[in-house]
Amino acid sequence: MAQHYDTIILGAGPGGMTAATYASRANLSVLMIDRGIYGGQMNNTAEVENYPGFSSILGPDLAENMYKSSTQFGAEYAFGTVLHVEAQEDGSWHVVTDMDEYTSNTVIVATGSDYKKLAVPGEDTYAGRGVSYCAVCDGAFFRNQHVIVVGGGDSAVEEATYLAGLAEKVTVFHRRDKLRAQQILQDRAFANDKIEFVWNTEVEEILGDDKKVTGVRVRNNVTGEVYNVDAAGVFIYVGVLPVSQVVDGLGITNEQGWIETNERMETARPGMFALGDVRDKELRQITTAVGDAAIAGQNVFSYNEEFKLKQQKVTES
Ligand code: FAD
Ligand code: NAP
Repeated sequence: MAQHYDTIILGAGPGGMTAATYASRANLSVLMIDRGIYGGQMNNTAEVENYPGFSSILGPDLAENMYKSSTQFGAEYAFGTVLHVEAQEDGSWHVVTDMDEYTSNTVIVATGSDYKKLAVPGEDTYAGRGVSYCAVCDGAFFRNQHVIVVGGGDSAVEEATYLAGLAEKVTVFHRRDKLRAQQILQDRAFANDKIEFVWNTEVEEILGDDKKVTGVRVRNNVTGEVYNVDAAGVFIYVGVLPVSQVVDGLGITNEQGWIETNERMETARPGMFALGDVRDKELRQITTAVGDAAIAGQNVFSYNEEFKLKQQKVTES
């Protein structure tokens, strides 16, 4: 028989782990499931400087601290990829992973977001051979070489600064003449001699030989000029997409796939909650994910109380 929990949390990023802390501290039985190591996107982040209580902390260290908090009141962690989630007749949920299956009174979707592809020729061909979406993971391969960063948001600018600590030179190609990144990240990157910004310029193709990336072909979208630039690595940071495929068909996502919730983190399906990056929201940060999670944890507790009372009445009648 499938193991039953008061709540099952899909994803153990900062949001999922914080929800586990709140729900288990309220004495609910809790299972977090993740397809990778707990920590989510924090594992791909070098320095986190905007999480309260730390002037600066490495992403993986913050993940480790959060994991300790999240399991101290009895929440369990299971490794596995969640394949699908199904509502059962009595209002409970059936969660199937590639390793096991479980049932629960409530489900919290905390599956986060993932990088968006640039969708240009060469991107897939050279993925892992010079094309990367994670500077912390792959930056060291490009020590003392020229690397390119694509994008103008927080990720592109922050990771360009990280890469400048390893590479000989970092060139950032941005499609506009104004960055979207937070001002402090911009100021830091502009002050770094190793980083060059090239404005109004789009990468049209990633070039390479039979082994690895050798550069990019770019186009200035104001002048129309097209030219090649040599580089050993291309780091793509052009935004994020929701990881919500496991709830496809449940009618809780918008057209882009982001999950819609109310302020209580309730989705349109009773007993299913969502939080963090996978929600349709304005600011995707660790702090906002953990804020969502505190609210979800509290409301999952209330929902469970009512659910158990209803089930008791059904059993008695
Ligand atoms: P995530 O961290 O994305 O975690 C989701 C988890 O769900 C993952 O562990 C994933 O493996 C799991 N999962 C997904 N699908 C399944 C499935 N089917 N089965 C099982 N498990 C699944 N924010 C800051 O506040 N400060 C920063 O300095 C900062 N730096 C960043 C740097 C980079 C390069 C990036 C990309 C983001 C950064 N962010 C930063 C944003 C921050 O990391 C995210 O907002 C935050 O991690 C979102 O947390 P989450 O728990 O909602 O989702
Ligand atoms: P983002 O904020 O959506 O920025 C994406 C960038 O890529 C934008 O500058 C965008 O250009 C550009 N872009 C999009 N599609 C493109 C294309 N096809 N070709 C060329 N350029 C393209 O994404 P992000 O920077 O990955 O950030 C994701 C979330 O994580 C955000 O909420 C962010 O705040 C958070 N985050 C926070 C931190 C931190 O707090 N330190 C660090 C990293 C990420 P336009 O500007 O022209 O739209």
